[in-house]
Amino acid sequence: MGPRGWAGRAGAPAPARTCLLPLLLLLLLCAALRSLRASPGSEVNLLDSRTVMGDLGWIAYPKNGWEEIGEVDENYAPIHTYQVCKVMEQNQNNWLLTSWISNEGASRIFIELKFTLRDCNSLPGGLGTCKETFNMYYFESDDEDGRNIKENQYIKIDTIAADESFTELDLGDRVMKLNTEVRDVGPLTKKGFYLAFQDVGACIALVSVRVYYKKCPSVIRNLARFPDTITGADSSQLLEVSGVCINHSVTEEAPKMHCSAEGEWLVPIGKCLCKAGYEEKNNTCQVCRPGFFKASPHSPSCSKCPPHSYTLDEASTSCLCEEHYFRKESDPPTMACTRPPSAPRSAISNVNETSVFLEWIPPADTGGRKDVSYYIACKKCSSHSGLCEACGGHVRYLPQQTGLKNTSVMMVDLLAHTNYTFEIEAVNGVSDQNPGARQFVSVNVTTNQAAPSPVSTVKKGKITKNSISLSWQEPDRPNGIILEYEIKYFEKDQETSYTIIKSKETAITADGLKPGSAYVFQIRARTAAGYGGFSRRFEFETSPVLAASSDQSQIPIIVVSVTVGVILLAVVIGFLLSGRRCGYSKAKQDPEEEKMHFHNGHIKLPGVRTYVDPHTYEDPNQAVHEFAKEIEASCITIERVIGAGEFGEVCSGRLKLQGKREFPVAIKTLKVGYTEKQRRDFLGEASIMGQFDHPNIIHLEGVVTKSKPVMIVTEYMENGSLDTFLKKNDGQFTVIQLVGMLRGIASGMKYLSDMGYVHRDLAARNILINSNLVCKVSDFGLSRVLEDDPEAAYTTRGGKIPIRWTAPEAIAFRKFTSASDVWSYGIVMWEVMSYGERPYWEMTNQDVIKAVEEGYRLPSPMDCPAALYQLMLDCWQKDRNSRPKFDEIVSMLDKLIRNPSSLKTLVNASSRVSNLLVEHSPVGSGAYRSVGEWLEAIKMGRYTEIFMENGYSSMDAVAQVTLEDLRRLGVTLVGHQKKIMNSLQEMKVQLVNGMVPL
Ligand code: AMP
Repeated sequence: MGPRGWAGRAGAPAPARTCLLPLLLLLLLCAALRSLRASPGSEVNLLDSRTVMGDLGWIAYPKNGWEEIGEVDENYAPIHTYQVCKVMEQNQNNWLLTSWISNEGASRIFIELKFTLRDCNSLPGGLGTCKETFNMYYFESDDEDGRNIKENQYIKIDTIAADESFTELDLGDRVMKLNTEVRDVGPLTKKGFYLAFQDVGACIALVSVRVYYKKCPSVIRNLARFPDTITGADSSQLLEVSGVCINHSVTEEAPKMHCSAEGEWLVPIGKCLCKAGYEEKNNTCQVCRPGFFKASPHSPSCSKCPPHSYTLDEASTSCLCEEHYFRKESDPPTMACTRPPSAPRSAISNVNETSVFLEWIPPADTGGRKDVSYYIACKKCSSHSGLCEACGGHVRYLPQQTGLKNTSVMMVDLLAHTNYTFEIEAVNGVSDQNPGARQFVSVNVTTNQAAPSPVSTVKKGKITKNSISLSWQEPDRPNGIILEYEIKYFEKDQETSYTIIKSKETAITADGLKPGSAYVFQIRARTAAGYGGFSRRFEFETSPVLAASSDQSQIPIIVVSVTVGVILLAVVIGFLLSGRRCGYSKAKQDPEEEKMHFHNGHIKLPGVRTYVDPHTYEDPNQAVHEFAKEIEASCITIERVIGAGEFGEVCSGRLKLQGKREFPVAIKTLKVGYTEKQRRDFLGEASIMGQFDHPNIIHLEGVVTKSKPVMIVTEYMENGSLDTFLKKNDGQFTVIQLVGMLRGIASGMKYLSDMGYVHRDLAARNILINSNLVCKVSDFGLSRVLEDDPEAAYTTRGGKIPIRWTAPEAIAFRKFTSASDVWSYGIVMWEVMSYGERPYWEMTNQDVIKAVEEGYRLPSPMDCPAALYQLMLDCWQKDRNSRPKFDEIVSMLDKLIRNPSSLKTLVNASSRVSNLLVEHSPVGSGAYRSVGEWLEAIKMGRYTEIFMENGYSSMDAVAQVTLEDLRRLGVTLVGHQKKIMNSLQEMKVQLVNGMVPL
């Protein structure tokens, strides 16, 4: 009867037809629904009434309640639609029972109902019984034999009402009002369940029933595979699921995700990484191809083998180094393979007594590494046999022998007068993997004499009221034959008045002392190299005067005191009369002892050796043979001509002396047909050179005078003359290397000036340079030096003078001194720093003389450190006494070498005058009129008096002030010291830049 209840206004009699209209519309809808039939990724259907091709097997109860409409869709698939419409009849209770549905392990299931429900208002009559809802129930059971379930055993899921009910009007409009309702049930505890739909008097068509559960579908996330996971029973439950790393991947941190009740994966934790040799691509781990590698799971992808490495295999975790290339254990596999460095370059040495300073340039090839350090091997070589042995432990290396990071080192405590070979080896992190490839540069040096070390043990001997006897031991390192000892003593706390005794013995007695008084003694030794340092202070006391005889004892004390006083007075007067700064008198002593008393003064000892002018010999041949060894011509092999001298060719060759290894030499020859004067002048140079023995003076091997041609044989200097060498290598050296060259020249010149020799023709062309960049002063001669120099020009007074290198006083009135050599040295500095530029360029000699006379000076060479240019200007002081001495120049250059940052300040390029000469004036003379004015100007007026009292009364004097002087003057505040020094520096820089007007 129910379906008839669906009758429209047309009042069609057949139940099938009654439903026809909605059913057509349903068909249309079904096509659309079928396309969605595949459950969404996260839903798994347990039942879908529309996909069941045969009988659904559902049971209606009572039989005339729900009925199935056997329709088919456009594909002739059956549409299982159940309908009931007994709205006119009272007390309806129509059940529709599904067959058993397995829950497939899901504990929460969803039921989606699609149905239409007729609006009771649209039905004629029967309003009293018409319902617009139906009920849905379930019953759990583990198997299918639950068909006899009683109504009251079912558990109600919900009463289902339509969101939309349809009226006849709606039908007319062909608007389908299909309701979809979803309910969920859980937790389920059995294997399956039945559903039941109860109608109590509505007009319903149940179009489809879909039962499903939700799952989180299998997924790969962070290289871990997570399995299909059925959602939890609770609608808010998150299930924690562990993932499994995919092939060729490893666990970085245990991978986990959470499966939500809605079937979504949430909150991934942890991850897997492709193992070494594999890289991630599209959620998989792909093998690294040959030529590529991946060292660790953490590297993001396969990388190309770094330079100098390769791999022929797939899945490489590292690459192999090419031949001769290596990898240090700690090198990362991504780093290129490297090799040991090449040898360091351009090593230069500076010898200072028994210390050697070495400097070099880093190797051209560092082997591709940054960890280059240097190792110094030291060998001591016999000058006779040429054999070398390891130096042994006595040599100290500053800062160290191995692992040197800087390109310089100082060796101290070497033996005096010894040939050493230092091998400087560059080492890097892979050097030890290829010991055969080690490369080094070697430097040969000969040390000079060292001063003796201080006396360390002093013992007291007999002590009386007026005398103290002492004895001591020779210093640990005498470094030569001890010529004498100097014993200085004074009464304790009376240091300004002291006595000096000289003794050749290791014991003395100091007498004439006060009884019962403490005396302080210090001893030092002297060798040919000069004095060593004083020993520490030793304090001894004279015996006291016995009380009983005190009266008598006063007399000798007074006598002694008076005697000492008289002696001291005599000493002072004697010295004043003889024009010396301090006095001495020979006391009655052991003839081996010499005693001097001092008061606020000191004695300068005369130089150990002096130069002897060969002119003073009546027979010049005698001079030659005194100072030069005669060599047999057969010992010399001449190889090639390397230059032309005034007297003949200069050749290179080899010298083989008996018992010695053959070594390279330069040979100057005297051309045939020479006059006797020429022969004398030629050999004069050897007579002079032969007197010198210094690493920065060209060394004379000997002369050949007994056969022809007459020859002078000297050490061979591979790089020839300095000016040509610098021009050839313009811009190739570090400032330190240039300063090293200058230091060598200054050291040679200091030696010459100490010997009392004035060079007169010091210029870069007369300096020779060897393969280690050691510079040596050469070209010694008498009058002929200047005759032979093409740079020398005749002056109005008739002499021939190299104008550009010569001090004004030497040009004007031939006043050649070591101070005029210092002027020339300043010009050599300028030549060196400008890589062999011609001083004063193309100016004429006359213009040069005039400009210099007027106070103009050469401007700073390009990129010249300010400290060096200042030194040049100091060398070019008009007043020769104001020029620095060579020993001061050497120590200043040493200071600069030790502290290379002091060379960083360059003469300001913008204010460098490129082709004009710089006006030169003493510091500050233009800027401040007096020391007081200057100090006031920098707010340091409070020190004016102290400056004046200590002799700094002019700005010229002030210019010489050092930091030490300031401290001595009592300027102890660091801020004040800085202010004064900065102001002085500023004035000097202004001067350097030619900014201070004359
Ligand atoms: P001199 O006659 O001393 O000026 O020498 C002429 C040239 O010969 C120099 O300019 C140098 O190029 C070369 N010469 C002289 N002495 C040596 C040496 N000891 N070693 C190498 N080259 C030298």
